[in-house]
Amino acid sequence: MTEGAVLVFSEEDNFAFELLALAKKLSDQLGSWTGAIILGDGSDRVAKFTEHGADKIFVVPDIDSIKDGTDVIAEGVSQVVLNVSPRLILIAATKIGKEVAAYVAQSLHTGCASECLDVLVEGPWVEVTRLVMGGGFLARQIFESYPAVVTIPPRRFQAVRSKGEGKVENVKVVVQRRMSKLESRAVEKSGVKLEDAEVVVAVGRGLKRKDDLKLAEELAKVLGAELGCTRPISGDLKWLPDDRHIGLSGKRVKPKLYIAVGISGQIQHVVGMRESKTVVCINTDPNAPMHKEADYSIVGDLYKVLPALINAVKRIKGQV
Ligand SMILES: Cc1cc2nc3c(=O)[nH]c(=O)nc-3n(C[C@H](O)[C@H](O)[C@H](O)COP(=O)(O)OP(=O)(O)OC[C@H]3O[C@@H](n4cnc5c(N)ncnc54)[C@H](O)[C@@H]3O)c2cc1C
Repeated sequence: MTEGAVLVFSEEDNFAFELLALAKKLSDQLGSWTGAIILGDGSDRVAKFTEHGADKIFVVPDIDSIKDGTDVIAEGVSQVVLNVSPRLILIAATKIGKEVAAYVAQSLHTGCASECLDVLVEGPWVEVTRLVMGGGFLARQIFESYPAVVTIPPRRFQAVRSKGEGKVENVKVVVQRRMSKLESRAVEKSGVKLEDAEVVVAVGRGLKRKDDLKLAEELAKVLGAELGCTRPISGDLKWLPDDRHIGLSGKRVKPKLYIAVGISGQIQHVVGMRESKTVVCINTDPNAPMHKEADYSIVGDLYKVLPALINAVKRIKGQV
């Protein structure tokens, strides 16, 4: 084992840079170095990885993270990890990253901790903090087998500039392409960056009809907010694209103002908005859990409250 080395991987370079910030801190504590895996042509990317703290960069030119399937990507990453034998590999918990992490851990017969909020080293041990039981509890878990495979949600850490040694190693991997991609179809996306929004108006099943979204859209418009939703609104009812849903299986947001409209406040939703600065809850049910998350609770019917709010904001802005 390369004592203490910390590797990072993401098929999206920006997420790899975020992971490098954490990897640098941990490898310093372990008295070792930080490495990154680049799939495909590394020529114009190596410099950026170095600027973000990578001491060693393992370039795998034979795998293309866009054209190749996740099985090929996972096998390639596995072979690099097997060769390098780090103490820890951090993988961004994207759709591809989650599959890669499970594959790497399984093929190396080692442990995998998914969606970790933090990673610490205690002597030789790697300890992670994760949400468990549907997001209701925080657990601290220590790896017993190494290399430790850890996935981290994108945007959990901030990328920082810190010069690494930037030594490049081209790695030859042998992969079998058992599947070939016939066609790619884009998933319907709103293109919105909910994670960066300063104000979010989020809607839940308190809305009776799709057409009633117009009310929430109008409130969002007058407030300069982005529109988010609970999973049933996008996943079950398909009233909004999937990239608008907030929560455990969706986006994590941390706006200055979060207005929850007709949302009950189940833990799977709440974990995605808990870091919001000020929370307003509009719900007819005084016992809805969302009220407990709120700084301002309005126990009332959204069909009466939203028009009143929209008018009030317009009045303040001099629009009526
Ligand atoms: C593994 C797993 C992952 C999940 N991930 C997510 C996730 O990422 N995000 C997510 O959101 N959910 C997720 N869920 C679903 C989650 O458990 C809840 O079912 C969901 O959040 C509930 O959505 P809701 O609040 O819109 O609906 P409901 O729970 O039905 O709540 C509707 C609320 O509207 C109120 N209401 C009704 N009429 C009005 C009115 N006229 N005016 C005001 N209020 C009104 C009601 O009092 C009620 O509180 C997940 C579930 C599982 C099992």
